[in-house]
Amino acid sequence: MGLCELCGRKEFSCTIIVEGSSLNVCSDCSGFGKVVHTANVPKKRAVKTVLAEDSVKNDFFVILKQCRERMNLTQKEFAEKIMEKENTVHKLETGHLVPGLELARKLEKLLKIALVEHVSVDSTVVNKKESNTLTIGDVIELDER
Ligand SMILES: [Zn+2]
Repeated sequence: MGLCELCGRKEFSCTIIVEGSSLNVCSDCSGFGKVVHTANVPKKRAVKTVLAEDSVKNDFFVILKQCRERMNLTQKEFAEKIMEKENTVHKLETGHLVPGLELARKLEKLLKIALVEHVSVDSTVVNKKESNTLTIGDVIELDER
């Protein structure tokens, strides 16, 4: 077996077409092109992996802005309250800066809001009977709880 030609970290498990050339890639990289062949997946086998992780909410900037407006603070005053730069607050509120977990947790504490959520990612790979061609839509199901 060879290694994935895109990331080089895992053994390749399928072949995809990217801009006219075929590449052998791992399952992680199969989304970069059109999958034409899937190797080593026995028929009817489903591989299920559940990953869970803490991550900052996608709409954190809406929550932050609403929070600041509720407190009737300017971005500058808000920045002082959370001990960050005004520029940082501006970037956070416009979504240009995604806070790291550390900063997000600090803001949660200071402002009594929820910015971090526990996300489980359910990815189920099912090999279909009729064909062994999988598209990224077939193999990835996101399930937020
Ligand atoms: Zn890869």
